[in-house]
Amino acid sequence: MTDATLTARAVRARLRLEALSGIAWLPVSQPQPVRGTPGTLAEWAAMAAGCRACRLCEGRHSVVFGEGNPAARLLFIGEAPGADEDLQGRPFVGAAGGLLTKMIQALTLSRDDVYIANTVKCRPPGNRVPQPEELAACRRFLEAQVALIRPKVICTLGRTAANALLNCDAPLGALRGLAGTRYQLVPGTGEEIPVIVTYHPAHLLRHPEAKRDAWTDLQRLLPYLHAAP
Ligand code: SF4
Repeated sequence: MTDATLTARAVRARLRLEALSGIAWLPVSQPQPVRGTPGTLAEWAAMAAGCRACRLCEGRHSVVFGEGNPAARLLFIGEAPGADEDLQGRPFVGAAGGLLTKMIQALTLSRDDVYIANTVKCRPPGNRVPQPEELAACRRFLEAQVALIRPKVICTLGRTAANALLNCDAPLGALRGLAGTRYQLVPGTGEEIPVIVTYHPAHLLRHPEAKRDAWTDLQRLLPYLHAAP
């Protein structure tokens, strides 16, 4: 019996189990890179497109992997896709996305210059905050994005993204402006990427008085953007 036959049987057995039990979703092991590790962004995006490793797969219309320059010096990380993003399959395309675009332009960059991703790639129902197990399940995609892009600096948008990337539970106010915040690219090797923490654009839409502080945060990105390659 071939591997393909065995795989097909396993899939059919799984579908029968789901149908019998009335369960619409069961966790499955993560797919592995298409050709070795770490692969390419396109390969990781293809894996994410078929991912069912957490229950956020249940209600998604599309997997929002991320977009932008694969060699970007600046990587933005937000929380999760919203309704507009879920429908279009692109990150930050709604009202908050419009504000993020303006923030990028204020740095004299365009969306094509940077890379934009989220901590989870599927929309949480009702735009709720991703649960710890969902963040954990999706983390390998985020880690792959950081490792493959190797940006000079990362800007996290909102508390969820900052906590997820930095593996902490500190409030946003304690992380904003914190000097020396780093993401360990490869633990134990000393390879680190500076992290600037700021507000999520959705928060800025609700609290425009915070835009001044956000601009202060963005200006802290500039030395890293303009440093020698
Ligand atoms: S949120 Fe991430 S881990 Fe969960 S199903 Fe989507 S791609 Fe997979």
